[in-house]
Amino acid sequence: MTIDEGYIKYRSFWTKAPIPNAAVTEELDTWRRPLRAAGLIGQYEELGIGYGNISIRCGEPGQFLISGTQTGHLEETDKTHYALVTSYNTHANIVCSVGPVQASSEAMTHAAIYGLDTNIGAIVHVHDRVLWRNLINTLPTTRADVAYGTPQMANEFRRLYRDTPFRQTGLAVMAGHEEGLLSFGITLEEATKKMLDLLGSSLDA
Ligand SMILES: [Zn+2]
Repeated sequence: MTIDEGYIKYRSFWTKAPIPNAAVTEELDTWRRPLRAAGLIGQYEELGIGYGNISIRCGEPGQFLISGTQTGHLEETDKTHYALVTSYNTHANIVCSVGPVQASSEAMTHAAIYGLDTNIGAIVHVHDRVLWRNLINTLPTTRADVAYGTPQMANEFRRLYRDTPFRQTGLAVMAGHEEGLLSFGITLEEATKKMLDLLGSSLDA
């Protein structure tokens, strides 16, 4: 497989400091656990590259808490493993964050999706080979020539939201990001359960 994962492609302005909303990371860890247990968040062992990340709207309007980069291998997480994205600009390819770790390399994609609708309260991004192969071009799918973590991927999610059932279902496949799928919800519980239900129905099939 092609690994294009785990390194930050946007210009990162990062302030290394404790996050101001530590209590919210307990909710993030609660819903991360079943995703981690199912292998939807984890690490490509042979490469030592983490995959999968989650986020929740938090703080000032437009801000969100997201998994730190290279935390996929962790069984459990706490306030030291998340970053608050404080501002971003998809056109200029800039993400500003504060936290003990840098924000996930996919923070730009999360930012663009929050920007679509204030009702989107949480986002889950996972990797799964079987789901990806089975659902590519069945679920709303981003273009194969668009890579993760780029302004172009942000534009692709805008397109899906405008032109496909993504707006109603909150589920999409990333064709140009091998094994990548994404869900959103009003709550993190909703976004997580959508993804776990997808996995459950693929095991039944
Ligand atoms: Zn990914």
